[in-house]
Amino acid sequence: MMPHPPLVRIGIGCDLHRLRPGLPLVLGGVRVESPVGADAHSDGDVVLHSLTDALLGAIAGGDIGDLFPDTDPAWKNADSAQFVTAAMDRVRAAGLRPAQADIVILLERPKLGSAKEAIRRRVAELLDLEPAGVGVKAKTHEGVDAVGEGRAVACHVVVGLAAAESKT
Ligand code: MG
Repeated sequence: MMPHPPLVRIGIGCDLHRLRPGLPLVLGGVRVESPVGADAHSDGDVVLHSLTDALLGAIAGGDIGDLFPDTDPAWKNADSAQFVTAAMDRVRAAGLRPAQADIVILLERPKLGSAKEAIRRRVAELLDLEPAGVGVKAKTHEGVDAVGEGRAVACHVVVGLAAAESKT
C-alpha cells in the first residue's frame, strides 16, 4: 500500500445550477448524455465549480466568484477546467498539492452510471493525482426539493492538501 502523506489543509466547496431542457450537462469535465443541462454563464459544471472552491478554501484563497465573476463576458460558456487550473496554480504557489478529493453529485436523473468513472479520471488529471485519490459518488434527492424535482443539479466536494515536497 502506498504511504499516505499527512494532510496539512482541508477545503470544502459546493455549487448548484438550474437544469433546463436542451442544454449540455457537463459534470467533472465530462459531457453526460441528458435531456436537460445546466443553465449557467460558464459551462455550468457544478463538479468543477465545487472543486475550484474547495481548492481555494483549503488555502483560504477566496472563492470562484472573486476570481471569475459571472458578470465578466470572458467566462461566457467557459470550460470550467480553467477555473480548476487557476486554483491549482494558487495551491502550488502556496507550496501545497492535492492529496485527495471526495465528490458527491446530487442529481435526480439521468443516472450517472459509467460517467462516474470518467469524471473520476478527469478530476484526477486536473489535480495531478492518481485516480485512487479521487472519490466520486452520485445520489438522488428522493424526489424532494429542486434537485429531487429534477430542476437543479448540485455538488459537494472536499479536498485535502499535502505539502508539495511530500510527493512520492
Ligand atoms: Mg457554478
